[in-house]
Amino acid sequence: MPSPQISIVAPLYNESESFPHLVQRLTQLMDSLPLPIEVVLVDDGSRDTTALQMRQIALTDPRYHCVFLSRNHGHQLALTAGLAAARATEALFIIDGDLQDPPELLPDFYQKMQEGYDVVYAVRRKRKENFIKKTGYFLFYRLLKSISYVDIPLDSGDFALISRRVADVLNQMPEESRFLRGMRSWVGFKQTGFEYERSERVAGESKYSFKQLFGLAYNGIFNFSEFPIKFMTRAGGVAIGIALIYFVIVIVKKLFFAGIIEGFTALLFVIILFSGVQLMSLGIIGEYVLRIFFQSKGRPLYVVKEEIIESTVYSSQFTVGKVPPQTMSSTTTQRLTDNG
Ligand code: UDP
Ligand code: MG
Repeated sequence: MPSPQISIVAPLYNESESFPHLVQRLTQLMDSLPLPIEVVLVDDGSRDTTALQMRQIALTDPRYHCVFLSRNHGHQLALTAGLAAARATEALFIIDGDLQDPPELLPDFYQKMQEGYDVVYAVRRKRKENFIKKTGYFLFYRLLKSISYVDIPLDSGDFALISRRVADVLNQMPEESRFLRGMRSWVGFKQTGFEYERSERVAGESKYSFKQLFGLAYNGIFNFSEFPIKFMTRAGGVAIGIALIYFVIVIVKKLFFAGIIEGFTALLFVIILFSGVQLMSLGIIGEYVLRIFFQSKGRPLYVVKEEIIESTVYSSQFTVGKVPPQTMSSTTTQRLTDNG
């Protein structure tokens, strides 16, 4: 197989139901295009038959390149593993494994890239998700845009076609709490949006828990904005201002109108309010400290258990996905068998 020009990268977690659909559509797509393409599937520690099905396809069709992680590391890290494993010389097409991002759009994205773009990211025109999720996403992207120091486009997820050099930069970014759509914007070069209608998941349930979604949103806000810290300073400034004004009023009343202001309830209210603000501020600082703590440990971002490239199985119990991926070279991978 010539080295692939394009890698289609998809992370999978418990996707046994959607897997046959995914393979069918990807195989059809690859057959219809004249370019050498590989599909990089990452098993994020699935507990169902996803890994088994991945093995089967990888051993029969050399265009399927499969990476198996040692446990569930979460979508962003699984995707990171896929980006590091992809061998494409020209571009990487990032999709979800549940077919919410139609892979058939690849030729359109590719054409757009030919116009001189390094990143063609998908912009969701319509979402077919429930009201709460839709509203949550809508508000989050707008909040992030207004406070982020990187220009992160509205309503765009990880679905994108990125050039080799953008992938190389992403692979060199060692940050532990990853928000790939933000990191992609940070890289720069020429980027453009491509509108599409987000489909419904082809089968099964969403694998993102609300906790994971909040975690992702937190990573977006704390990794791409100084707003929370600035907000604390400003809130402190406003509180001091109010206190000074109040102090002047009290003094004036005492000196010129004889009498002290009563107001036990008001006092209680102010104490409770500012105790809350102080606790929240501590929490915000804690959030940054936590990030420094995790980053300072310098642990690998993920652990690869096994990799199947062109139907050859590589056991890689010592292969760790610490970026930069150059450290993931074949010195640590051991060839086990040919064709399984
Ligand atoms: N996914 C993953 N690890 C996880 C959760 C999800 O690799 O811990 C994969 C999942 O299999 C899918 C993609 O990430 O291919 C997007 O997840 P999902 O469709 O569940 O998220 P949603 O579209 O509901 O936000
Ligand atoms: Mg989905």
